Amino acid sequence: MKNIAILGSTGSIGTQTLDIVSLHEEFHVVALAAGKNIELLEKQVRKYKPMLVSVWEEKDAKKLSENLRDLDITVEYGMEGLLKVATIKESDILVTAIVGMLGIRPTIAAMEAGKDIALANKETLVTAGHIIMPLAKEKGVSILPVDSEHSAIFQCLEKHTENPVKHIWLTASGGPFRGRTKEQLKDVTIEDALNHPNWSMGKKITVDSATMVNKGLEVMEAKWLFGVDVDRIKVLVHPQSVLHSAVEYMDGAVIGQMGTPDMHLPIQYALCYPKREALPYESLDFYTLGQMTFEKPDEDTFRGLYLAKEALKKGGNMPTVFNAANEMAVAMFLNRKIKFLEIVEIIESCMQEVGFQQCPTVEQILETQKETEGYIESRWKR
Ligand code: NDP
Repeated sequence: MKNIAILGSTGSIGTQTLDIVSLHEEFHVVALAAGKNIELLEKQVRKYKPMLVSVWEEKDAKKLSENLRDLDITVEYGMEGLLKVATIKESDILVTAIVGMLGIRPTIAAMEAGKDIALANKETLVTAGHIIMPLAKEKGVSILPVDSEHSAIFQCLEKHTENPVKHIWLTASGGPFRGRTKEQLKDVTIEDALNHPNWSMGKKITVDSATMVNKGLEVMEAKWLFGVDVDRIKVLVHPQSVLHSAVEYMDGAVIGQMGTPDMHLPIQYALCYPKREALPYESLDFYTLGQMTFEKPDEDTFRGLYLAKEALKKGGNMPTVFNAANEMAVAMFLNRKIKFLEIVEIIESCMQEVGFQQCPTVEQILETQKETEGYIESRWKR
């Protein structure tokens, strides 16, 4: 029996995690947290029977509690609720499938409580990797990557841990705007940005893929997960999203992981690790695949990728500034307050203006987030 808690159960990764749970008799859901979608959360509760759920707002918690009065279940809300779901005594592993820096405190709390982490919430590692990775070692917990590229790298590194890595080839689809010039991106709409060619994901990460900021966040995630310097992480545009990433060893051997673009595989791998289990989804058919192509990313047009690497090189709280600025700018873009290209302009401006801090604590990371948001509000408020 493996007892699972999920943060963000109503989202793209959360619902696919529950698909995987349904395939395994030995998996049992003990706690779920969501934001606002209490209708779906109620359905999930009735199907998976957790003992604890949490939503973001008190009024939604009251409504959900009322709707679930026929069941023996505790309903919590807010950050306290997220922390309770993350640390529930009965769980073995926490799937972090919420979006953004909101995940930092619950992820750390879960690790302190000895839980393994199936990590989708990359923003947590981007901003607090210097705290999370040593903590994992200290507590003896595993951080199992869910992001498809990082799961691929993790799979390619297995059994090769003593061999030095020359490069990590981190693949990127290039998003919906691959091949466009800056001029052509001036007036793209939300709908254009959300129209990802290969992956169906939540809105924030889909916009991040369109700006290629997502790939920048993934470079940072790879650095922390695999202890590889930024200069040895090579981003490779591969529009078919079949090669999910690869590891190049010192002798020139390149070991890659391929598959269809479907998150069920990395989610299941994280939950079943080290076992591989059958999956009832479409698998890769080389006869019909046709071609696989590769390109160098255009970091002039997609400057967010370049800035992410700069933030990583600078270190300290700079990845937090980068990430917090992006989170707020993407929300503003999705609320039609700014244009697409302004997302990265805002990130760059924040990186120049927000105060630098060498080795931030969790509190200082959250203060940097506030400072970054305050700066954006003062300059871009419309
Ligand atoms: P979605 O937007 O689809 O889902 C986000 C989830 O977080 C929802 O369940 C949402 O609840 C919940 N949530 C939002 N705000 C709160 C809150 N204040 N309190 C509690 N829960 C909240 O996101 P994705 O599933 O796409 O992404 C999740 C994470 O995984 C991100 O960090 C992303 O970068 C990463 N990731 C995603 C991939 C994908 O394929 N989607 C691939 C690789 C990584 P509700 O809907 O009820 O409001």
